[in-house]
Amino acid sequence: MKGHSLSEKIKERVRKDVEILKEHGIDVGLGMLMFDDNPASKQYFLATLKACNKAGIKAYEYILPANASVNEILNHIHSINRDERINGLLVLFPLPRKINPRRIVNEILPEKDIDGLGAISVGRLAADESTFQIFKKGDYDNLYSGAAAHAVSSYLPCTPFGVIRLIESYGIGIKGKHAVVIGKSLAVGKPLSLMLLAKEATVTICHRETRDLGYFTRQADIICSAAGVAGLIKGDMIKEGAVVVDIGINVFGQGKIVGDVDFESVEKKASFITPVPGGVGPVTIAMLLENTVRSARKNQLMKHPLII
Ligand code: NAD
Repeated sequence: MKGHSLSEKIKERVRKDVEILKEHGIDVGLGMLMFDDNPASKQYFLATLKACNKAGIKAYEYILPANASVNEILNHIHSINRDERINGLLVLFPLPRKINPRRIVNEILPEKDIDGLGAISVGRLAADESTFQIFKKGDYDNLYSGAAAHAVSSYLPCTPFGVIRLIESYGIGIKGKHAVVIGKSLAVGKPLSLMLLAKEATVTICHRETRDLGYFTRQADIICSAAGVAGLIKGDMIKEGAVVVDIGINVFGQGKIVGDVDFESVEKKASFITPVPGGVGPVTIAMLLENTVRSARKNQLMKHPLII
């Protein structure tokens, strides 16, 4: 399951929507907040910047020193919240150790929380108030217009939303399947589990303290691994025909990137498998752009419902 063609399709749709908004005098803007000592997020930052340029989205960069205080960071967020040019804010992780990330993401206005990490976005996902965005199987164009465009109150986290879209783009059904998610973080594992549950899969969540991971993965129809541990999933841990989605990114010397899945042994048994790089990654960035342009459109629809 390669991510490029889905990613290009989404980005093309975004580009068109950005054009339409431009015709009405509206520029779409994405804020990106990052700390300057953070090589881990640099690559994602640069890739997002490039994708924004291509899509016609204006990027506003906030690169803060690693010793920035919480108050200083919050001031930036408050000013972004008020900034009419910025429709969404991406905070790049990890944050410096002394900063409580929840304090930061909870300060982002829910309508600008395009990575769905704030408590309101998380709560709406858990309460099934925002999951209608993943119910439109194969018809995600509806997210840009019609009732769905008006109704959206919170955005879904980009990586898990992208995983759902990637699985479906290959014609794989989720309903009734046993999905095993490895990892329970707020950015990936937990929201992905909630989305799979909303799609009526039977969901098992595994994590660092799970005993005998293979016992669970061998029962899975769909395995989604987001642990950040190279070689975690091996061929003898999956059943014949399983769908394997590798979300992990592990960077080795000379920039070599591998996922959590031992591709060689798992490929022999899986019916579908995502490569790393080139699987989930490209879709994540496309989802970020999609959420941003939808936020711009929603903002505009609320203020001038007749023009677009
Ligand atoms: P995290 O460190 O916050 O969470 C990792 C999770 O994996 C934890 O819940 C932990 O309990 C679990 N885990 C760790 N070791 C494990 C083990 N041996 N067995 C079972 N579970 C284990 O990380 P995150 O932000 O959720 O990201 C997870 C991975 O996904 C990372 O490699 C990250 O780089 C990658 N990621 C990829 C994308 C993408 O677009 N492809 C986006 C975000 C994150």
